[in-house]
Amino acid sequence: MEDHVVGEYAALGGRGGSGDETFGFEVRHEWEHELAAGGWTCLGWPVEYGGRGASISQQVIFHEEYARARAPGRVAVVGEGLIGPTIIRFGTDAQKRRFLPPIVAGTELWCQGYSEPDAGSDLANIKTPAELDGSEWAITGQKVWTSLAQQAQWCFVVCRTEPGSVRHRGLSYLLVPMDQDGVDVRPLRQLTGTAEFNEVFFDGARTARENVVGDVGDGWRVALATLSFERGIAMLGHQLSFVREFDRLVSAARERGRSDEPLVRQQLAAAYAELCIMRYNTLRSLSGIDGPEAPPEASIAKLFWGTWHQRLGELAVDLLGVEATVCTAFPYELGDFQRSFLFSRAETIYGGSNQIQRNIVGERVLGLAPEPKGSR
Ligand SMILES: Cc1cc2nc3c(=O)[nH]c(=O)nc-3n(C[C@H](O)[C@H](O)[C@H](O)COP(=O)(O)OP(=O)(O)OC[C@H]3O[C@@H](n4cnc5c(N)ncnc54)[C@H](O)[C@@H]3O)c2cc1C
Repeated sequence: MEDHVVGEYAALGGRGGSGDETFGFEVRHEWEHELAAGGWTCLGWPVEYGGRGASISQQVIFHEEYARARAPGRVAVVGEGLIGPTIIRFGTDAQKRRFLPPIVAGTELWCQGYSEPDAGSDLANIKTPAELDGSEWAITGQKVWTSLAQQAQWCFVVCRTEPGSVRHRGLSYLLVPMDQDGVDVRPLRQLTGTAEFNEVFFDGARTARENVVGDVGDGWRVALATLSFERGIAMLGHQLSFVREFDRLVSAARERGRSDEPLVRQQLAAAYAELCIMRYNTLRSLSGIDGPEAPPEASIAKLFWGTWHQRLGELAVDLLGVEATVCTAFPYELGDFQRSFLFSRAETIYGGSNQIQRNIVGERVLGLAPEPKGSR
């Protein structure tokens, strides 16, 4: 890391990633190729698919060193963490040969086409229809909140392929190329001023008949597997960057002469203790698993870190005082703490909202009565 995070990569100062996706995108994409050249992408994938077959603890070490080296925020997390493991688990040999190597090489980027205006937490309400037209699927519908759709070459889209089917039946998991006339990506500007996510309109978009992962009509099972990967190892890198953010906050308190105030000291100490709890709990929940999917206990970690990060952001803007209300440059250039404070609002929503995580913890960890049917 010391040898390679130099020049324009070092100049990024570890930025990029969640909430800061558009920052230095081109350079970060180049960095992806540099990582791939050294064999440092897709560490947890089996060796036969271009990975290193790294254990969970080896991956944790890598992510920690990565954060410590202030290496650029990854641009290929959706491919490496979500669709890659899904194709490895459910894909055909031809799909593995076609789609895995460009993910390992960092040359093809992916986005996740799940959410729709009426299907978020209640994902089984997906409506976007797809029908076979000769040797191709034709897709017409709308997805929303699609992160990085403007940069991605491919999208995995959960579609309704059996007309008249309801809920989780009759869905299929299609791999759809983004660069075509039938796909219209409209960026949505966020609180942070940047547009990380998008509305994606499919208007007769096409993909080859064989680009379906799993059986036609069995997309729900595949979609759930991807979600379990999203809550597992893929979340880890993001969480580990909090250590650096916390260290910056301690420095900011010192620089402003506030680190001697009893209340500030207590708040920083509490945040640090919780940061340690977060790390140990994550390690605990990942211990003993040997695949990319998360156990139900990972919902505790998601609930904890999303909420913790929001509180850290609030502590940061409290510490900065009026300084926090002023942009660092015209017209809306935010500082690290401001950006984090604003973007962290999203962290208790994406990847399953806090309420949904509590449902999972209640039902699958504590064994409580399931959510009443029809409550949605
Ligand atoms: C930054 C960001 C990036 C995202 N990126 C993507 C992406 O790349 N691809 C993608 O497909 N989606 C993406 N999403 C969408 C995300 O998955 C959804 O926002 C999330 O699943 C919640 O769905 P919703 O927004 O429709 O809210 P809703 O499901 O409408 O929820 C509204 C409120 O009701 C609560 N609620 C809903 N159901 C229940 C229940 N059963 N019990 C208790 N409370 C409930 C929720 O917790 C929430 O507070 C992203 C979202 C964000 C914020």
